[in-house]
Amino acid sequence: MNLDKTQGGVPDFVLMDQLTEDAMVDNIVGRFKKDNIYTFIGEVVVSMNPYKEVSGLYSKAKMQEYKSAYMYEKSPHIYSLSNNVYRKLLQYRRNQCVIISGESGAGKTEASKVLMQYLAAVSKSSSEVDRVKNQLLESNPVLEAFGNAKTLRNDNSSRFGKYMEIQFDFDGAPVGASIINYLLEKSRVVGRTVGERSFHIFYQMLAGLSDAELKSNGVSKDINQFNYLSVSQCSTVPTINDVTGFKEVQKALDTLGFSGTEKQNMWKILSGILLLGNINFRPDEAKANITRILDQKALDAAAAALTTNAGALSSALTTRSITTGVGKRVSSISIPLDLQAAAFTRDALAKGVYERLFNWLVQSINSRLSAKSTEGKMVVGILDIYGFEVFDNNSFEQFCINFCNEKLQQLFIELTLKSEQEEYVREGIQWEPVKYFNNKIICDLIEGKPVSITSLMDECSLITESTDSTLLGRMNHSFKSHAHFESRDSAKRDMTLPDNSFKLKHYAGDVIYNINGFLEKNKDTLFGDLVNAMNVSSNPLLSSLFPPLDLNSKKRPITAGTQFKNALNNLMDRLLACEPHYIRCIKPNDNKKPGVIDNERLRHQIRYLGLLENVRVRRAGFAFRQPYPRFVWRYKIICPDTWPPRRFTMRPGQDAEKTPAEKIIKHLGLKGDDYRMGKTKVFIRDPRTLFDLETRRDK
Ligand code: ATP
Ligand code: MG
Repeated sequence: MNLDKTQGGVPDFVLMDQLTEDAMVDNIVGRFKKDNIYTFIGEVVVSMNPYKEVSGLYSKAKMQEYKSAYMYEKSPHIYSLSNNVYRKLLQYRRNQCVIISGESGAGKTEASKVLMQYLAAVSKSSSEVDRVKNQLLESNPVLEAFGNAKTLRNDNSSRFGKYMEIQFDFDGAPVGASIINYLLEKSRVVGRTVGERSFHIFYQMLAGLSDAELKSNGVSKDINQFNYLSVSQCSTVPTINDVTGFKEVQKALDTLGFSGTEKQNMWKILSGILLLGNINFRPDEAKANITRILDQKALDAAAAALTTNAGALSSALTTRSITTGVGKRVSSISIPLDLQAAAFTRDALAKGVYERLFNWLVQSINSRLSAKSTEGKMVVGILDIYGFEVFDNNSFEQFCINFCNEKLQQLFIELTLKSEQEEYVREGIQWEPVKYFNNKIICDLIEGKPVSITSLMDECSLITESTDSTLLGRMNHSFKSHAHFESRDSAKRDMTLPDNSFKLKHYAGDVIYNINGFLEKNKDTLFGDLVNAMNVSSNPLLSSLFPPLDLNSKKRPITAGTQFKNALNNLMDRLLACEPHYIRCIKPNDNKKPGVIDNERLRHQIRYLGLLENVRVRRAGFAFRQPYPRFVWRYKIICPDTWPPRRFTMRPGQDAEKTPAEKIIKHLGLKGDDYRMGKTKVFIRDPRTLFDLETRRDK
């Protein structure tokens, strides 16, 4: 490993003299100033977003350099991790996964692309494999166009979670892939904070389609004609070229095999969503509780783009049918929606259409990317998912996202500590278990049995009369004295908390959630009338997104919360079946600026990612370990017993090298507890020993 002090700091946090947050900040800043954006914690790669192109960092030459090296022999890089992943996949024929975490803008998506590009570059090539590689890489621009948006924190922020599994054949060539998407932030379609944008694709389409094509969909280039886009007063972004973006998306869709008709159908649906947002309502002149469409032209335009019946759309937006009775006696009555409910219904439709379109897109990409047979295939999974979120106002979405992070922390504990432990057992050496905070108690509070926050949410969602405050009341009652739950009514009354809120003490810190909207978002229902109005569309794609509802079905629709919980648990099962690797992303400042460092923000991220704990766990055992042959090969020259080689011939093979390794260790003056001789590796407790070794070697 390169221990050159001119690199601004140690390449592995484990090697730090002092174990404090400050020392971690100093180390990362020191390295960052020298453009060393990556640092190890053992096999974990910590990545700091440079917000600029670091010259040569991702060159072909760099890839080659890492291809032939072992993890610690080169400066820390995503390539070291990528190469380790690929090597282990082939060597042990075991599934691998890479978990990428960090705040918005920290560089997760960029890291996932660096990893994918490396895997594509170093694996075998043939015309069929190259087609797969090409499609794999081209899935990124498509999913980013539909799933990413400009936010205040990131000009290209992923508004969905993504898990991609790349399948490899016996020779290590990629032969297919599958993508699972999580929790798209669909509310962005209808509104968002001022200064942010909706999903890229809307702006790309308006900028990129010809006037004639736009006209045939009933729209034109002017972004301000759409309420759904103009609300946030942000149409162009200096770092984004929507015209070029649209060309890239078109090309990527072609590569992925989407037909011209499919693309046209998509643009039409997107236009329809934008036009829906221009429909406004007014009360009926005679009866104030009846809602009418304000402007018939807006309704007609939306109905035309969605190729559905304007009358059906109008009544679906302003009234709601309720079915009563059972069996043959089922009948339906229509009740009027008030102004607010009509606007809510319109937005629910726009969001619902977009979400279904996005899901269809992912499924279509999957069907094109799926390997012909999955028999005997090995996979590399890549998880690019939202990090811990704490805003001024936290709602259902943050609750789900932070729940996801609790689960990932569980996984980290289980896999990392478990694998440490397993290695010690495998190598036949003794060690003492390390103490750490187990966040299972928080996961149980959220999803455990018999009562949890999600189970209460589902119960309240079933009862029509329940409101958000009913839910909060039940939570207060059930978790009164739970160590990780606080509210105005809990045992540890926190009167500083606002009304209608509760606090969860997450492993990464406290978050106050506002209960308003929890139930509505959990129910996530789209009224039957809307489904029918979309189902009869003559746009085959739109119609297929809305299969008819079975009104007689006894099955309750699955709530958004439960769906997310199930998806997470499925994800955990998949990840548990893999050997994990971690990339922890950090950003230097909140202004997307190169060269600017905000120490306080760094400290905060280090804490929320649990990095110090990670270093501590890694150091508590044996900080440094190396297989005998590599150890002897590198350090034989420092010890008169092993250099020049006299009695010990340097044959490859482990046993042959255990004795010389021990000679070297003894020569350093290490005693009893300082080191262990495992079956295949030497384990050294104090990280400073590595400096000693390297310094002697340099001399
Ligand atoms: P979100 O959670 O919002 O999706 P993210 O963690 O995925 O955020 P990215 O989109 O990967 O963040 O990165 C944000 C921006 O930071 C990128 O668009 C790019 O400008 C810059 N960036 C990230 N990583 C790097 C890198 N390794 N080199 C240069 N620039 C980078
Ligand atoms: Mg991202």
